[in-house]
Order: sequence, then C-alpha cells, then structure tokens
Amino acid sequence: MSPTPPAPSPGSSEPVVPSDLKVKLAEQRLHVTWADGSQCVYDLAVLRRHCPCATCRIEREQRSDSPGSLTILKADPRNLRTTGAKLVGRYAIQFEWSDGHNTGIFDFRFLRTLPSVPAE
Ligand SMILES: [Zn+2]
Repeated sequence: MSPTPPAPSPGSSEPVVPSDLKVKLAEQRLHVTWADGSQCVYDLAVLRRHCPCATCRIEREQRSDSPGSLTILKADPRNLRTTGAKLVGRYAIQFEWSDGHNTGIFDFRFLRTLPSVPAE
C-alpha cells in the first residue's frame, strides 16, 4: 500500500499567506496584498476591536453578556493608536498599541475574515 498524497484543496486547508504587508502608522491602516493577488486595507482601530487575545475576548464577552452593566474602557478608542507591528513566524502579525497592549496575535486566516475598508 502506498500512502495517498494529500489532495490539494482550494478550500480551508490552504494557508492564507500575504505576499506583501504594509503598516502605515500615519494612516493607522494595514495594507495587505494576499498571495492570490487580492488587496485589502484594514483600519487598525477595527483590528483592535477584533483583537483575538484572551483579555480582549473576555472583555467583549462580558460586555455583550450583561447589557446595562458598568463597562470601564481602559483607553479611549478614538485616541488609541497602533505604535508598531511585527510578524509572528509566517502565519500572523502582532500589533503594539499606544495603551501598551501587545498580546493580540492576528493569524492571517483570521485577518482575512475581518472587515476591510475600500482602498483609495
Ligand atoms: Zn487584546
């Protein structure tokens, strides 16, 4: 019996890879060119609202599970800025925020599901 090679599937098992990433701090936007040639521009404030780290997830869940309860926002989201970014291996990007938060790791597959803004 010879081992069956994994069938190439264009679906979910294919890695989502960007061919080019540009973080524009002045615009607070992330420009991504995906390997398939499509381009996306992400508002960094939107990415922060979707931050996948445990702290932010719990914060969001608590907010949505208990309407009418007291919510203390640690930072004014309007003044919150991305101050830096770095790649995590070849699968994710990690941002640093002006409030010191830097534990959110955005898997590229996850990033691609987030709402992007129309490119200018
Ligand atoms: Zn977070």
